[in-house]
Formats: sequence, structure tokens, C-alpha cells
Amino acid sequence: MSSLDAQPAVEPSFNEGLSMTVDRALRHLDLPPGLAAQIKACDSVLQLHFPVWLDDGVYHIFRGWRATHSSHLLPAKGGIRYAVCVDQDEVEALAALMTYKCALVDVPFGGSKGGVRIEPGEHSERELEAITRRFARELVVRGYLSPGGNVPAPDMGTGAREMGWIADVYRTLHPEEINALACVTGKPVTSGGIPGRIEATGRGAQFAVRELFRRPEDMALAGLEGDLAGKRIVVQGLGNVGFHLARYLSEEDGARIVGVMTREGVVLDDRGIAVAELRDHLDRHGGVAGYPGGRTDVDADAFLATPCDLLIPAAIEGQIHRGNAASVQAKLVLEAANGPVTFGGDEILRQRGIPVLPDLYVNAGGVTVSYFEWIKNLSHIRFGRLDRRLDEGRGERIVRALEQMTGRSTDAALRAELMTGADELALVRSGLDDTMRQAYDEISETFHGNDAIDDYRTAAFVVALRKIANTYLDLGV
Ligand code: GLU
Repeated sequence: MSSLDAQPAVEPSFNEGLSMTVDRALRHLDLPPGLAAQIKACDSVLQLHFPVWLDDGVYHIFRGWRATHSSHLLPAKGGIRYAVCVDQDEVEALAALMTYKCALVDVPFGGSKGGVRIEPGEHSERELEAITRRFARELVVRGYLSPGGNVPAPDMGTGAREMGWIADVYRTLHPEEINALACVTGKPVTSGGIPGRIEATGRGAQFAVRELFRRPEDMALAGLEGDLAGKRIVVQGLGNVGFHLARYLSEEDGARIVGVMTREGVVLDDRGIAVAELRDHLDRHGGVAGYPGGRTDVDADAFLATPCDLLIPAAIEGQIHRGNAASVQAKLVLEAANGPVTFGGDEILRQRGIPVLPDLYVNAGGVTVSYFEWIKNLSHIRFGRLDRRLDEGRGERIVRALEQMTGRSTDAALRAELMTGADELALVRSGLDDTMRQAYDEISETFHGNDAIDDYRTAAFVVALRKIANTYLDLGV
């Protein structure tokens, strides 16, 4: 932050903080008058009160929102969250983040987000289905849900099951719509979903970390050395994002997960935590008690101060803030959640020289694979269906030619690799990896190529804002 920035006495709200972050990036761009304000403004936000008949035999009134931050590209895209913390400020901030996220990773969508203020764990499956179907119907009839206009996805507290219900509501209301399944992403694979979508955000964040470790200049900036194997990692949140990310980093890259914080408590173990085992323990016993290193006497601030190489907040916004950022003892913070570091917290980390890889990049894997799912739904064919066997045949001929030329038989692993055509999951992973690498390149070029930019977040926003501005200017929207 430069001395031009006003220092707010108290933390700004999530949405205000995001707006200040965008302003900081806008200083590095020379946009025509009015365009910056147009980009920043939330286009519209729908607030609903809707009744649902619950198991107690009484109608309860629920409150939900859907914000469309931008429609310069359609559909507007973003998840639906079920949590007690949902409010309009949060939904607007998350919708705006979707706009910047999509632009950064070249996903041709506007930004949107929705939420219902409920604690999903307190409702039966029947109640959740009734709430979801009613909310979806309200969104459809008000023009906030359609394949070409606004396409939700899972977020905190929702998953493939809810997306399946939403798709069914849309299909019932629009039985003649040939592209109906593209009205929502993150659906069950058996109902128009795509393999790899559930773990996409965690997988994308893993690709981001791997890319970081391929860049000596960025490693040096964080004071990191060597490769990922053995690196000490602390993860806050073991939901869909945190779980998959921690699992991949430890099982595939050899990193050591030394701390995990879940809703039920904390696990600290310097020898490394077996993430899948811990998840299983939590599911079976409902808490960390009885798990080696499990503790319920550690608060979030103390946990976030655990010394480590990478600190990964993967739960919810506002976790690293003015009040605790000074005690963070990580070499780098990786924002796997949306908005986990507040504007004030970010300022402190910057002053302390702790780099932050920002949310709009790190967690973009979810919406990237949503984009693949949407394309699949519109094309009505699974990826690889036309060319997979052709590739296999070509691989087989290459193996045969190699063997004829050398007079030797090919190594079994190489033979298998050459003779396997890419299936849908392999294609999704390849597309996601490419997306994360490409975006890292662009952030890095802006960051290292501009002396006035001293953090990844500003660089990522500059990249995203430049693309959005160009779309507005090119299309005259
Ligand atoms: N909820 C996810 C996010 O925050 C995914 C959004 C989507 O796939 O549309 O990025």
C-alpha cells in the first residue's frame, strides 16, 4: 500500500475491502473516465424471503440473495452458499471476486454469487431439498438462473446434490430448453456433470503451488528453497477445498501437513498428518478427540501463528486480519478460500514481507472446470469421445514403429502411456493445469515487470482489470 491510501481505523467490510484492493490496482491502469466505476459496480442484487414447509409441520421463512456483479460477458457465473454468515455485503463481494477471477483465468463469464442464510447441518435432506428447489424456482422466474444468463455452482455448504436439484427445477420449468443442463455446474457426473469438478478447486490450488515452486525468483521472494517435498504446510479448513488440496500436496508432492484446523478443533503434528485418515476420523467420530495431535484448546489466532512454510486459509473470509496478521509465521500465504485475508491483514503481511498468492488466482480451479462442464453441456458430448480411440491407435502405431526400428521391445510403462488416449478426467486436468500456468505467467509478468507493483494481489487484479476493460472497450458495452 502506498502512502496515498487512507488507513481505515477499523477493518472495512469484505466488499469495501475488495473495492479498496481494486482501487489500488486501478492506479496502475489508465482507463477512460467512468469505465473503472462501471467495472466495479454491482449490476444488480436480488434479495428474497421465501417460505418452506419444514419437518416440524410449519412454514419457515428463509432469506437468500443472488448478486450479479457483471454481465459484460454472459452467463454470469458463481456459486451458491449455504451458511449462517451469508448477507448482502458478502454475496456482493463474492460476486465481484468472481468477475475478476473469471477474467484472470480467461473464463468468458461475468461474475455472480448467491447464498441462503441457513446452517445446512441443522436440516434434514428433505428440508434441504425443499429449500433448494424453492430458492432455485425463485431465481429462475426472476431471471437469475438460466444457461445463457446466470449459472450457479457449488460453494460452501452446497455440493453436487444441490446442483442436481437446481438443474431439475430449471428443466421442469423449461422442458423445451435443449441446453437446460447448462443452467448450473458442479452437477453429479451421472446427470451432466464432469469428472474432476468436485476436487477442481483443490487441484487448481495444487497446480498453483507447483508453479510457484518452478519459479526461483518467487521462491526467493518467499525465502523458500528446494522442492515441495518435506515443506511444512498449515491448512485452515478441511472442507472440499482444504481437504483435496492438503491431500494432493502431501500424498502426491510429499509436503508435510503439520497443522489442520477444522470446525471441530485443531490437529498439530510435526511428523505430518495423514489427511484422508483425519477426514475419516472426523466423519466417524464427529471431532478431533482421539486423533493423534488433536486439540480443542487452540483458538484460530494461535493456530494461524503456527510456524510453517505455507499457510493455507481454505475456509472462509476474514480469517487473517488486522488483529492477528502480525503473528503469522509463514513464509507465504496461499489464499485457497475466497477473501481469507482482510484488507488490513493484507497490509500488515505486505509490510512484513510475507507474500500472499491471492484468492482470485489460487481458487480459480473451481470455476475453470465449471466452464469445461458448461461447454460439455452445450456440446452435448463428453470430451474425448471422438478422438480418444484415434489417439490410442496412433500411439499403438508409434510403439510398433519404434520397436521395428530399434529391434527392442518398448518399456512397459512407456508403452502403456503412449497407447492410452486421454479420457475426460485427463483432459479436464490438462485444461486446468494449462489455465493455472498461463494465469501465473501473466501475474508474474505484471508483477516482475513493473517496479511500482509490489505484491501478487495487485498484479493479479491489474491483469484481470485490463482484460475486463478491453472487453468493455472492444464490445462497446
Ligand atoms: N464457488 C466456486 C468459487 O468461488 C466456484 C464457482 C463456479 O464454479 O461457478 O469460485
